[in-house]
Amino acid sequence: MAKIVGLDLGGNSINVTAYDGQSFLIEQMAELPSLVTQGPATCIGQLRSAFEKALELTGWSASEVDAVGLDTPGPISADGVLCSKGATNFSTEAYWNYDLRGALSANLGLPVTFLNDGNAAALYAHWRRYGHDVKKTSVSLIVGTGLGGGVVANGSVLVGRVGFAAELGHVTLPGDWYPHGTIPARCNCGKNSDLESIASLTGIELNLLPYFLPKFSGHPLADLPIKDAAKKVRGLAEKGDELSRTVFRAQAWALGAHIDQMINVFDPDAIFIGGGVIEASEDLKNWYLAMIRESIPFRDEQRDLEIAIVPDGDKAGARGAAVFAYQSTL
Ligand SMILES: [Zn+2]
Repeated sequence: MAKIVGLDLGGNSINVTAYDGQSFLIEQMAELPSLVTQGPATCIGQLRSAFEKALELTGWSASEVDAVGLDTPGPISADGVLCSKGATNFSTEAYWNYDLRGALSANLGLPVTFLNDGNAAALYAHWRRYGHDVKKTSVSLIVGTGLGGGVVANGSVLVGRVGFAAELGHVTLPGDWYPHGTIPARCNCGKNSDLESIASLTGIELNLLPYFLPKFSGHPLADLPIKDAAKKVRGLAEKGDELSRTVFRAQAWALGAHIDQMINVFDPDAIFIGGGVIEASEDLKNWYLAMIRESIPFRDEQRDLEIAIVPDGDKAGARGAAVFAYQSTL
């Protein structure tokens, strides 16, 4: 049996898991504060504490551990080096060009592998469905604050030359993605009308609410600051609010158009959808998945394509990071 520790480093917390090559040994949510804003030394110290928590929960000793898998939101290189201008949760200068993976490996005295969080969640969704089957291909789309993506092709997660593979949120949508008009949309990355500009919480705030609110005059969300209004859309959609359902229907069109592109590139066995909407009520989740399926212009041969959810949303990053570390030991 292998002994692998997985660490998902987020803006607020570190989620810990342990994997023996067949199953995960920590069922509950095991988390520590990440303290990323206190700088690299503190952050590495917290990752070490998280690693020790995994030992405590499994009874493993540090010297028995084969490898550690780390994941965090990008942009970050394939080797786990933060970009020259930092990254999402690592904006202070001390993190610019910081070798996060190398620093953790030196601290623990163990091999450490790295994936960005979208790729890690994608690998976990794929593993849950297909195990280590090297014939299967899947595409994952995680609709959260941003849009995280991942592609697992023939059993291997695509990382890319510099680590930017499957940045699916920043793939431009086809011009005719929305059948009822043109929704002006900008993304924080500087592009217009990419997938994240519509299918994300940020997209709701920046583009979808500003477009749809004036069409629903007197709607109570119009009285709130746009940031607060965006966060209320999911709860209102669960209650059947027409504006909120229209917002998510637009997201489903965008996802459908994007999935059509992915089908034509990868001919995948499955598409996995994760993120906030999927963690909503069963009713809203099933409606959203049905709307996405309805929006895809399938060829007949592709009509039975599996569209499923990314399971265990909040543990998927750490678990995918651990699966990746395990694969590196084979
Ligand atoms: Zn973008």
